[in-house]
Amino acid sequence: MTKKSAIIVWFRTDLRLHDNPALYAALNHGERIIPLYIHAPHEEGRWQPGAASRWWLHHSLSSLARDLKQLGSRLILRAGNSLEQLQQLVEETAAASVFATRCYTPAGTKRDNHVQQALQDLNIDFKLYNGNLLLEPDSIRNKSGQPYKVFTPYWRAHQQLFNSPALLPAPDQLPSVPNRVSSMALAKLELLPTQPWDKGMRQTWQVGEQAGIQQLRLHSQEIIADYPDSHDRPDIDGTSRLSPYLHFGELSVRQVAKMLIQSRQQHARPGATALLRQLVWRDFAHHILWHFPTTSDKPFDARYNHFPWQRRSNSRLLKAWQQGLTGFPIVDAGMRQLWQTGWMHNRVRMIVASLLTKNAGIHWQLGARWFWDTLVDADLAQNSMNWQWVAGCGVDAAPYFRIFNPVLQSQKFDPRGEYIRRWIPELAGLPTEYIHQPELTPPLVQQACKVILGSDYPEPILDLKASREQALLNYRQYIRSAS
Ligand SMILES: Cc1cc2nc3c(=O)[nH]c(=O)nc-3n(C[C@H](O)[C@H](O)[C@H](O)COP(=O)(O)OP(=O)(O)OC[C@H]3O[C@@H](n4cnc5c(N)ncnc54)[C@H](O)[C@@H]3O)c2cc1C
Repeated sequence: MTKKSAIIVWFRTDLRLHDNPALYAALNHGERIIPLYIHAPHEEGRWQPGAASRWWLHHSLSSLARDLKQLGSRLILRAGNSLEQLQQLVEETAAASVFATRCYTPAGTKRDNHVQQALQDLNIDFKLYNGNLLLEPDSIRNKSGQPYKVFTPYWRAHQQLFNSPALLPAPDQLPSVPNRVSSMALAKLELLPTQPWDKGMRQTWQVGEQAGIQQLRLHSQEIIADYPDSHDRPDIDGTSRLSPYLHFGELSVRQVAKMLIQSRQQHARPGATALLRQLVWRDFAHHILWHFPTTSDKPFDARYNHFPWQRRSNSRLLKAWQQGLTGFPIVDAGMRQLWQTGWMHNRVRMIVASLLTKNAGIHWQLGARWFWDTLVDADLAQNSMNWQWVAGCGVDAAPYFRIFNPVLQSQKFDPRGEYIRRWIPELAGLPTEYIHQPELTPPLVQQACKVILGSDYPEPILDLKASREQALLNYRQYIRSAS
């Protein structure tokens, strides 16, 4: 490659300028850099981005385009088949190379292999860099050379292998992109909703690289200090809320890890290790999907291939769950938080998923789909692994007999009912003794609090005890017959 050749930097899930190895390598190699994003949702197969992800993507691309412009460059937006768009841009710009951050989803890997082959035939360099994970899936194996299937030994090995990285700086200027290279208008990608349902998301999130860095700076120290005690409390908001920034690569996961490692060294804070462990769960999810690419669609534990979960997408239970009208306040609060903001607290994600898959016996795929459409952090690896974990059919899964009781969970993790009151205004006036089980509220108290059960707020949609026993029976019988 000559020093003067152009390099296309193909942005995908690395929508940032800081600590971006593909961009950094391009800057070190060539003089002309063509920043490119190709909108190709059809290439994601069954898992095209959902509505909330598209909303985030729109704002993220807008932010990246702004940041590139400030440095003297320009984001080229194209849509269609990735390979065709690349070939066309190579021709227009006489680029000799395409640099990108590696993707690990089955569809992304397939596309990249195809692109690699075709570009190689044209004598174009296609280089992939790790900018998304702490350790790439192939760089960590157990003693027999196999992928890990259990988190704890994976975490131990990860700690041995991962060193605090040197971060790559963001450029302070970039070469311009010739005017003749055309770009689509962002609006043409039609990522935003036609019905304006996104008010809650607009009020909740600042999107983009600077916003992600800001979130890390502003909240990390207090979160690290309190994380061990408060990360399970949805009423306290004791988690980092970095997940969408990490999913879209607006924030470098290595930067977050480095900050945590430094914090651990300087202040010996257990919260730093606890939060680092969560980032390693993220790596683990990608490790699993990479090595077991069917796990987005099929149980990891093949014994569950024919488990009789219900698959009806119009069932009354599923609808009530989606709308936050199950009559279990902690579940409804979570589902409404999700609908309004595109995010839900992790503890509540586990509770709502357990009610759906275990008490209601509904297929985890229907839950995963709903999350896929409504989460701003929807991520194929993390979503699939976690849904399967709760359903009991995944890697390192919660055993089938672990069924979360939403009332007990609510009493434990939202003791004063503040989270419930925040998301279910019709219950706001209920005394704390009834907030976790409103159906027990005496009629006179209901009248005084202006909430009539069964009218203003639903009675529980299922019997917790009976549905739990039924689920246990189903799982036991099924496992016996499948073994
Ligand atoms: C049913 C279910 C579905 C989920 N779907 C997704 C999803 O689509 N996308 C997603 O990013 N997370 C998913 N999670 C994991 C977790 O709920 C979110 O990552 C977390 O709530 C994000 O909030 P935070 O950034 O404040 O987390 P923090 O507690 O501050 O953790 C920091 C980071 O660690 C990672 N992390 C934390 N918990 C997990 C976990 N259990 N598994 C993998 N990575 C984790 C995330 O990247 C997170 O941003 C799911 C969990 C469940 C139970």
